[in-house]
Amino acid sequence: MANTAIVGINWGDEGKGRMVDLLTEKFDIVVRYQGGGNAGHTVINERGKFALHLLPSGIFREGVVNILGNGVALDPENLWAEIQDVTAKGVTITPENLKISDRASLLLPWHRVLDGLEEARLADKKFGSTKQGIAPFYSDKYQKKTVLAGELLHPEHLKAHLQELLEWKNLTLVGVYGAAPVTMAELTAWVDTYCEKIKPFLCDTGAYLRQAQAEGKSILFEAQLGALRDLDFGIHPYTTSSNAIAAYAPVGSGFPGARIDEVVGVVKAYSTCVGEGPFVCELFGKEADVLREAGQEYGAKTGRPRRVGPIDIPATRYGVQVQSATNIALTKLDVLSYLETIPVCTRYLVDGQETDQFPFPTLLEQAKPVMEYMPGWNCDISGARRWEELPEAARSYVEFIEEKIGCHIGFVSVGPERDSIIIR
Ligand code: GDP
Repeated sequence: MANTAIVGINWGDEGKGRMVDLLTEKFDIVVRYQGGGNAGHTVINERGKFALHLLPSGIFREGVVNILGNGVALDPENLWAEIQDVTAKGVTITPENLKISDRASLLLPWHRVLDGLEEARLADKKFGSTKQGIAPFYSDKYQKKTVLAGELLHPEHLKAHLQELLEWKNLTLVGVYGAAPVTMAELTAWVDTYCEKIKPFLCDTGAYLRQAQAEGKSILFEAQLGALRDLDFGIHPYTTSSNAIAAYAPVGSGFPGARIDEVVGVVKAYSTCVGEGPFVCELFGKEADVLREAGQEYGAKTGRPRRVGPIDIPATRYGVQVQSATNIALTKLDVLSYLETIPVCTRYLVDGQETDQFPFPTLLEQAKPVMEYMPGWNCDISGARRWEELPEAARSYVEFIEEKIGCHIGFVSVGPERDSIIIR
C-alpha cells in the first residue's frame, strides 16, 4: 500500500478518525504528526465508542504500530489518562504497538494554566481555545523553552533544565498574570507521576520509520483539525498553533524524507466549526438546531455545540488545494436525509462582488454566502453500501460537490460505523 495522509479539508471534525479506523487495516504504521489533545477523533468499532485525543486511531488494530511523532504536543498527563481509558475497554497498548518520539516536546502543566489565564484576560475577544495549553506549548517549543521527551531518560540533566524553565516561567505567571508560582516540588511530583508512565514508549521514531519503509512497510499519516485551522494557511488568527496540512507530515513524524503517495481529504457533507472566528455560511435559529441535532454536532473534547451550516464550496476547494488532496472522503451524507432541498454555498459576496475564491482572512469577516439549492432525497440512506444503491438526488449532490471542488470523491460515508461506507 502506498503511503497516505488523512487530513481535514475544513475546520476539523470532518470524521477523520472514522476514515483512519477504516483504512488502518491496509497499513503497517499509523503516525500522528502534529497537534495535541485539543481535538478529538471519534471512532466506533466492535470494542465500543472512543474519543481519541492524542493516540493514533490505529491503536485498535492488531499488528499496527502507532507513532506519536516529534511534531505533536506531548501531554503526558492526558496521554496517560487516555491510555488507561482505552486499555480499560480491552485494547492492549505496549511499547510494541505505541512508540513516542524522543524528540517530541513535553506539554508542561503551566501550559494549560497559561491558556486559561490568557483566555480569561482576552474576555470577549477570546479565540475559543480548548484550554489544553496548545498555543502556550507551541510558543515555548519555538522559543526552545520546553523539554524534549528524550530528556526524561537523563534525570540529572532534566532536573537542572526544569529548574531553569521554572524560574523563567514564573516570571510570566506571577509578573504578567498575577498567578501563583509553580514550585519545583510540584513539577517534580508531576514528572514522577505522569512522565514515568510514558518513558517505556520513547524511541527514535525517525530511525524506526526509515527502517520500516526500507522493509517495504506502509505508513498512514493522521492529521488533527483541518486546512482552515492550519497555522500558516488557515483563518488566521483563529487557527491552531500547528500545521494541519499533509505537507507537514514527514517533518512532524520524524522522517522528513518520507514520500506521501496519496492525500485523502475528509470533507463533511455540510459545514461545522467549533470556537470563534469567521464562519461565512453559518446557519442560526431553528434551521441550525435541526442540523446540529441531526448530525449530533457537539465537540468531542469539550461537548460545546458546534456552529453549523451548509457545505461551503469556496472554503472546501481552498482546503483541497492547500492539502493537495488526491482523493476525498465525504462523510455524514446520511445526516442530510431529512432535507427537502439542500442549500450549498457556492460563492461569496466580498466587497460587493461575487467570487468563488476563498479570500484573505481579513476579508472573511465581511464575506456573505451565495447559495444554490439541490433537491434532497428525503429517505434513509444509511444502509447503502454501493454507489448505485444511493438515490439519484444523493448521487447528484455528491457529483455536484466533486465537480465544484475539483477532486474525486472516492469514499462516501453514510453512518459512523466502520462498514457504513461506499467506495467509488
Ligand atoms: P474527526 O475529529 O475529524 O475525527 O471528527 P469527529 O470525530 O469529531 O466527528 C465526527 C463524528 O461524526 C463522530 O461522532 C463520528 O462517529 C461521526 N461520523 C463520522 N462519519 C459519519 C457518517 O458518515 N455519518 C454519521 N451519521 N456520523 C458519522
